[in-house]
Amino acid sequence: MDRHGYLAVSDLLNHRFCGRVTWFAYVLGLRQRGTVKTDHGRDEHDRWVQRERNRWKEGATVRARAKLVSAEVTSERLLLRGKVDALVGEDGSVAPYEVKATAPPARPWPGQILQLAAYALLLEERHGQPVTHGYLHYLEGDVVREQPIEEADKQAVRDILAEVQAVVTSEMMPQRAPASHCRDCVYAKICV
Ligand code: SF4
Repeated sequence: MDRHGYLAVSDLLNHRFCGRVTWFAYVLGLRQRGTVKTDHGRDEHDRWVQRERNRWKEGATVRARAKLVSAEVTSERLLLRGKVDALVGEDGSVAPYEVKATAPPARPWPGQILQLAAYALLLEERHGQPVTHGYLHYLEGDVVREQPIEEADKQAVRDILAEVQAVVTSEMMPQRAPASHCRDCVYAKICV
């Protein structure tokens, strides 16, 4: 949460990973940059951003008419903000475009859908029109997939946002995540 009271999309991903991360960050004030999970492939991701800044559109794999790389989007209604890897302008609509440094999974990870859905809500407020799909670009193998964004996905974003706000307001420490999550968590050394 920034000084204006806005949460970041990464806060929702962190909370989904473990509710206690919200408590460390916003009740104890021990903040970490980005997501708490080890950020595999951050360098490849940053290289993609640098390279794409000079290209006005994505390849033939998406219906792009235009593209804006590394775009900040904010919702005053949700008090939520984020930086989407790219905004893809299509015929009369806009879609979020997220880049992952991994190979494509058999199905998108739930956190990836949550992230796209959060950006969809932010873009809907900004552009005043529904956002019904986004794109996931897996750098390993250079695979781009169109991902539908359903109303249930958007509701999941609102629900997690409410959970984060409840932890901040109540200051109650949430339950631990499953132990398998703790291996990748930057709070593991101080968490009880
Ligand atoms: S160490 Fe485990 S329980 Fe503690 S914040 Fe991290 S994921 Fe959650």
